[in-house]
Amino acid sequence: MHESCGVFGIFAPNEDVARLTFFALFALQHRGQESAGIATTNGKKLQVYAKMGLASQVFNEESLSQFNGHIAIGHNRYSTRGSSQIRNAQPIEVSKDSVSLAIAHNGNIVNAEHLHKQLSDQGYSFQTSSDTEVIANLILSSHEKDWVNRIKYAVRRLKGAYSMVILTNHTLFAVRDPLGVRPLCLGTINGGWAIASESCALDHIGADFVREVKPGEIISITENGIDSYQGEVGRRATCIFEYIYFARPDSIINGRLLYPARQAMGAGLAEEYPVDADLVMGVPDSATAAGVGYSIKSGIPLGEGLIKNRYVGRTFIEPDQRIRDLGVKLKFNPMPQILTDKRVVLVDDSIVRGTTTPQVVRLLKKAGAKEVHMRICAPPIRYPCFFGVDMATRWELIAAQKTIPEIRDFIGADSLGYLSIDGLIKAVALPRETFCLACFTGDYPIPVQLGMDKLALEAPP
Ligand code: SF4
Repeated sequence: MHESCGVFGIFAPNEDVARLTFFALFALQHRGQESAGIATTNGKKLQVYAKMGLASQVFNEESLSQFNGHIAIGHNRYSTRGSSQIRNAQPIEVSKDSVSLAIAHNGNIVNAEHLHKQLSDQGYSFQTSSDTEVIANLILSSHEKDWVNRIKYAVRRLKGAYSMVILTNHTLFAVRDPLGVRPLCLGTINGGWAIASESCALDHIGADFVREVKPGEIISITENGIDSYQGEVGRRATCIFEYIYFARPDSIINGRLLYPARQAMGAGLAEEYPVDADLVMGVPDSATAAGVGYSIKSGIPLGEGLIKNRYVGRTFIEPDQRIRDLGVKLKFNPMPQILTDKRVVLVDDSIVRGTTTPQVVRLLKKAGAKEVHMRICAPPIRYPCFFGVDMATRWELIAAQKTIPEIRDFIGADSLGYLSIDGLIKAVALPRETFCLACFTGDYPIPVQLGMDKLALEAPP
């Protein structure tokens, strides 16, 4: 499963905003590893630099020193819509009639195709295949005089998930969709302001967390301070996968640190699927906290039998099967000295296509584990995501095609337990109505575009 993107923005006249944006992107690297980019303004013109690669590969002292200005935005991308190409790297700059903006977006616009066609018919040309350019052109197509009203015009037409930062010559904007699908938060830094996908990025650059950007809110930050405009709010639909996997466990979402929520998922799995075993392990790093929770609840000792090579990036750097197969071996090294003759409970965040889990089970068994009992924090994923998560089409989702006993056999585990939706809701300790659960239930919080819906739900020809 691929995450969508990480966004960051900063308005801080007393700081080196490009450098701080770089370090914030570094902290948000887990949200997207295909491309990274920064845009700044000095009040007169925008500067944008974006390339394929990790933030640390894209930027160095020389490229960072080229930026000047006091406002910046940044982006880490994983493509959800639009192919993985340099032209789709963000932030993107779009201009019309000598007016320019730069934009960085996390999410997915479900009516992007429709809007793209409308704007093309009006004479707007597109350089990229990403829906971010659709948003930018939609803002520029507004006849409103000021930026806030132009953004409001665009927001009224957008359907889907978007947490975004927008840069003009004088203003930093933060915008979150009415459902609040993707996270976005606000902080202060040395008399200035910062916006980030996750609070962990604020922590790393020494900013203080103030609050989350509210669903449907537009924040504008200028030299005169900060203003907030509350737009329409739909039903709340925070992506529950932010809690299970995407966001870092040291981030705060909906007022709650994620680490205890992940621990509670593990505890819930121990309640729902107890088993006699010698050792509990969480697949590092995304299921580490859940492993701790399972161990505490079950009383089975916690251990580490699988060491992660933290310098290879995530398994799914390249969306091709050969690299994925190699990825698990590159990523994990099992320790036979710890695993031999052990009955192991292995806690993981989710099973999507079911291509990685059998390899991990095989690694453990080859290293001597007598039994491997898989416990999964996410309920079975049976429906695709239309809100910025590149999961798979429905026919690729293993839980849409096989029963749970069939999946158990397929992955080679001795037992398999998925946390129930009720168990998951109990772990996150917020009302069920707060969340999007569509990839488990098929009940999408807004109607998904007919064509996309059909495409993703049908079997291949
Ligand atoms: S469908 Fe699943 S992954 Fe997509 S936003 Fe909803 S909960 Fe998140």
